[in-house]
Amino acid sequence: MARVELRGVSKSFAAAEVIHAVDLDVAHGEFVVFVGPSGCGKSTLLRLIAGLEDVTSGDLFIDGARVNDALPSQRGIAMVFQSYALYPHMTVYENMAFGLQLAKARRETIDQRVREAARILQIEHLLDRKPKALSGGQRQRVAIGRAITREPKVFLFDEPLSNLDAALRVQTRLEIARLKDRLGATMIYVTHDQVEAMTLADRIVVLQAGRVEQVGSPLELYGRPRNLFVAGFIGSPR
Ligand code: ADP
Ligand code: MG
Repeated sequence: MARVELRGVSKSFAAAEVIHAVDLDVAHGEFVVFVGPSGCGKSTLLRLIAGLEDVTSGDLFIDGARVNDALPSQRGIAMVFQSYALYPHMTVYENMAFGLQLAKARRETIDQRVREAARILQIEHLLDRKPKALSGGQRQRVAIGRAITREPKVFLFDEPLSNLDAALRVQTRLEIARLKDRLGATMIYVTHDQVEAMTLADRIVVLQAGRVEQVGSPLELYGRPRNLFVAGFIGSPR
């Protein structure tokens, strides 16, 4: 579990600032959802937290430690992307084991964690398959399983369900909700799907053009949106 804190975090690409002095606290074990229109900076914020991009100014803390200069592998974070990014030549088992092998975990530890993650996600019967022999939903579960095996303190999800068809989206969303209860890890989840946001979030962060527009529980945002922009995203007319 981890507390994630952003203090005045800004990010520029070349001359253009795309994230403007964002302040945010995510509590231990909290499930926070980022919503906002395409291009508002949701993925960039996740990438800053993960260490895949450097912040231009401001500070980033995980469990109280400043991580601005920490490598992604030092941050205790795992990220699940919209595209599954599995290694095509490896089996499901090998895909899930790979990160742990890189980290030089013991073989028994790797085996135990891969099998436990496979059990949680109900993909035990797929461990010997290659990614091309899986459905989209199964691939995304493998990608989530790969994140679980590393036992991160923080999970980051970037629109993990948007490549799935409607039925699979519902099923995988329920699985992520179960995961939240089971792992008790801190989770930050990007989506543009209102139902996902309302059903998964402890708190929703509404972003617009690189700024935080409003933060609150689903009920607070639904009942008291600060403006029409938030209302438009959360779905209640004022
Ligand atoms: P979202 O995920 O909300 O759709 P992004 O975080 O991907 O938005 O993008 C936010 C803004 O930053 C956009 O204007 C995008 O064009 C810009 N941006 C993102 N990544 C880069 C990059 N590597 N180089 C230049 N501009 C980028
Ligand atoms: Mg994005």
